Amino acid sequence: VKKNGKNSFVYFSNEMTIKAKKRLYLEQEVRLALANDDFHMVYQPKIDVKTQRITGAEALIRWHHPKNGIIPPNEFIPVAEQSDLILKLDSYILDKVINQISRWQKEGLEVPVISVNIPSREFQRGDLVASVQDTLRKYQVVGNRLEIEITERLLMDHCEDNIKILNRLKDLDIHISVDDFGTGYSSLSYLVQFPCDVLKIDKSFIDQLPQSKDNCKIVEAIIMLAHKLGKSVVAEGVETEVQYQYLSALGCDQIQGYYFYKPLNKNDFAIKLDKVQFK
Ligand code: C2E
Ligand code: CA
Ligand code: CA
Ligand code: CA
Repeated sequence: VKKNGKNSFVYFSNEMTIKAKKRLYLEQEVRLALANDDFHMVYQPKIDVKTQRITGAEALIRWHHPKNGIIPPNEFIPVAEQSDLILKLDSYILDKVINQISRWQKEGLEVPVISVNIPSREFQRGDLVASVQDTLRKYQVVGNRLEIEITERLLMDHCEDNIKILNRLKDLDIHISVDDFGTGYSSLSYLVQFPCDVLKIDKSFIDQLPQSKDNCKIVEAIIMLAHKLGKSVVAEGVETEVQYQYLSALGCDQIQGYYFYKPLNKNDFAIKLDKVQFK
């Protein structure tokens, strides 16, 4: 109980203090984990619907905390996003992923496009483009091996500035994909203006395919829209043969989901890659 002014008291519920404490604890632990290099990336393949070959992979962060065990990204990313910590985390992830691409290439592997998640809030903070460019140069990796998954919200916020940043990324040959498409509130006119290459349909629409007739219509419409705009479509969270067949019939380009692959550690992923063919 906290005294507030003369006679009024403000009560903090137990739950709130527990939440606040947990947040503070997590934030400190993320800082520590960054310093100790305690995170690692896993890679979830995306396959081409027609050939069923791996054409890309999404890099996803993993944290095995020494005391608390596995802490999922859904728990600590939002905490990091509440401060500048997320910028450190982003640079750390970009460095790790681009370094890894470079290592695989040195091992003679054909590396597909690897995507990294950059939540939209970070676009206005720090210098994302310079940091990506520097890291690519540091490891001598060309931009077209990298994809950035942005969120749909970016299509709404600070439109002009974000378009500029995306265009600078495109100048580096980096692919841009709009993650969790359909869950936000992007306006179609922004979508036309935005220099993005891929729409990634959110898992929540895929889950109920083909039982939910509404979801079927939405997914079909997104695929048609994307193709009309010259963009390609990835469906995320595909778990069954039926979903795969249905999406294939609708002309979806790529699939990501447990039906084909769960996220793989770097060695298991590397095994799936082809050797570069010398002609
Ligand atoms: P997201 O970007 O939508 O990532 C897809 C999530 O769905 C991943 O969970 C992935 O493992 C999971 N997934 C993929 N296929 C299936 C499937 O068929 N079935 C089910 N049930 N799940 C599937 P994960 O790795 O736990 O990531 C959760 C969220 O955390 C991500 O959602 C993303 O928003 C965030 N995240 C993960 N890694 C990073 C990162 O490196 N940086 C940032 N900023 N965010 C990250
Ligand atoms: Ca993603
Ligand atoms: Ca997603
Ligand atoms: Ca999602």
